[in-house]
Amino acid sequence: MCGIVGYIGHRDAYPIVLNGLKRLEYRGYDSAGIALYDGNELKFSKTKGKVADLEKKLESQISTNGTIGIGHTRWATHGVPNDVNSHPHFSNSGDLVIIHNGIIENYEPLRQELINRGYTFQSDTDTEVLVNLIEDVKKKEKVKLGKAVQIALNQTIGAYAIAVFDKNKPNEIVVARLGSPLAIGVGENEFFIASDASPFLEFTKDAIYLEDGEMAVVRTHKKIKIRKIHDDSLVDPYVQELQMNLEQIEKGGYDHFMLKEIYEQPEAIKDTFRGRMLVDQGLIKMAGIDDHIDKFINARRILIVACGTSWHAGLVAEYIFEELARVPVEVEYASEFRYRNPVIDKDDVLIAISQSGETADTMAAIKLAKEKGAFVFGVCNVVGSSISRETHAGAYTHAGPEIGVASTKAFTTQITVLTLIALQLAKKKGKISTSDFHNYLRELEAIPQKVEKALESNDIIEQIADVYKNAKNCLYLGRGFNFPVALEGALKLKEISYIHAEGYPAAEMKHGPIALIDEEMPVVVIATLKGHYEKVVSNIQEIKSRSGKIIGIVTEGDVDVKNLADHVIEVPDTIEFLTPLLTTIPLQLLSYHIAVLLDKNVDQPRNLAKSVTVE
Ligand code: GLU
Repeated sequence: MCGIVGYIGHRDAYPIVLNGLKRLEYRGYDSAGIALYDGNELKFSKTKGKVADLEKKLESQISTNGTIGIGHTRWATHGVPNDVNSHPHFSNSGDLVIIHNGIIENYEPLRQELINRGYTFQSDTDTEVLVNLIEDVKKKEKVKLGKAVQIALNQTIGAYAIAVFDKNKPNEIVVARLGSPLAIGVGENEFFIASDASPFLEFTKDAIYLEDGEMAVVRTHKKIKIRKIHDDSLVDPYVQELQMNLEQIEKGGYDHFMLKEIYEQPEAIKDTFRGRMLVDQGLIKMAGIDDHIDKFINARRILIVACGTSWHAGLVAEYIFEELARVPVEVEYASEFRYRNPVIDKDDVLIAISQSGETADTMAAIKLAKEKGAFVFGVCNVVGSSISRETHAGAYTHAGPEIGVASTKAFTTQITVLTLIALQLAKKKGKISTSDFHNYLRELEAIPQKVEKALESNDIIEQIADVYKNAKNCLYLGRGFNFPVALEGALKLKEISYIHAEGYPAAEMKHGPIALIDEEMPVVVIATLKGHYEKVVSNIQEIKSRSGKIIGIVTEGDVDVKNLADHVIEVPDTIEFLTPLLTTIPLQLLSYHIAVLLDKNVDQPRNLAKSVTVE
């Protein structure tokens, strides 16, 4: 995920693009860049760091004249954040310049083909491949830029919002989208291009939101033409009048970043397996794992270290790895691991999980494990982060920036990556049959759609939140794969609503917490059909006999729990080890709504920080 901005018209493009990038910085902030055409020359500047760093560098380096320009604030997916990998990227001739938000999944074969045809690459990005592919098509087919973009995009697999122009024809910008957002602001003989409308709000309220699979050529003094990339058919531009203010637009119309990120999960999960899970071919391709598969196959055990929500993702992974790959797994708090002289050596694989990739305790645990000779693998969201550099290998979650302090999409994408690793390992170790493997891939592929379905319970959850918002304590119960989800649900509630909550394995309740249950105590029970259902139903009976209030998270069509519980929230059915990806969703929404109803600062809860860089 990143922010893209463009301008073409009669004003100075530079301030529009620069201010636009500042507004889009919430979408990505590891590097930034701008390209402007001043009538004679294509000028550009790009840098690792924030838009403010770009601004400093740029103004001392180049003149900022020009009425056409594009800019990018990056959230790296391919290649670490550095100056060279920053956008814009140029074609080999230097004529074409592009900015891109998304992932070109098949960039590797395309890159090889272009190298064979004499192209060279400076960056590690998928984006530089795309701009050269466009150039190659343009030359080979002798077509205009718009056509070349269309032909090139039809050869790509992946997701994109792009803006590209040719310095020899600086009166048009070609834009296209598939899977990443792109808005066009329509002014008087001028156009604005951006990932959302915030960069152009003060200039025009008329906006066209491109739909997936559409492209447009925007030209000054011309009507905009929109076509379908796939079949070239023309689409009537639908210009809508914007009603939202700046803050609402940055949050995508949601009241809080946390809610936006909860709703981003279907896309985020897709981005996590994009290019890695080839369902039709029945394959998983993950360089970080495939290049070191022997380490995993020969591992005596796998140790997972993490903190907070990532630790919960590690616990889910423990169940999945042991179930599928039949390898012993231990999960530990990084802060404990680092200070207790753990028994670990070269026969162990350590997986470190951290959204930010900067968590101090996790970093210290990695260093300790490396000293003792273990192979260390990182699962991070932030590309190029300290942990991703310190580990021997790793896999990114590609969830895009998570702004809300209470982690949501980071958790589900961590579980997704860890599931892919477990599946790959199980296959390579011969622990699962080919048909099961295919079946699991298909089920995982269906998860984003099922998450969308789970999100439809939002209104019911808001009503339930209203009933329990004044509770002093809350208990979360789950078994098996959903025990860690209970822990995560309780943590979410504590974090943002400041209500005391405990997560427990459902059967452990009778060894202590049952003493707390009375008519004041809401108990959230994850009781999906697959996963010790009858046992959980018995636990629910025990709560009911003590007058506890039961909120059941159940599989669609459930009957038994519905008869017992005070409230139920349904999630779609899936195979058991994937249920955490669905049962988590209502728990996130429940804590969100309770916190909102209590008027708490959802995105920045007291005393908490997004990236815990102190021990
Ligand atoms: N895949 C591109 C890169 O890594 C774009 C990432 C983004 O959306 O910021 O540079």
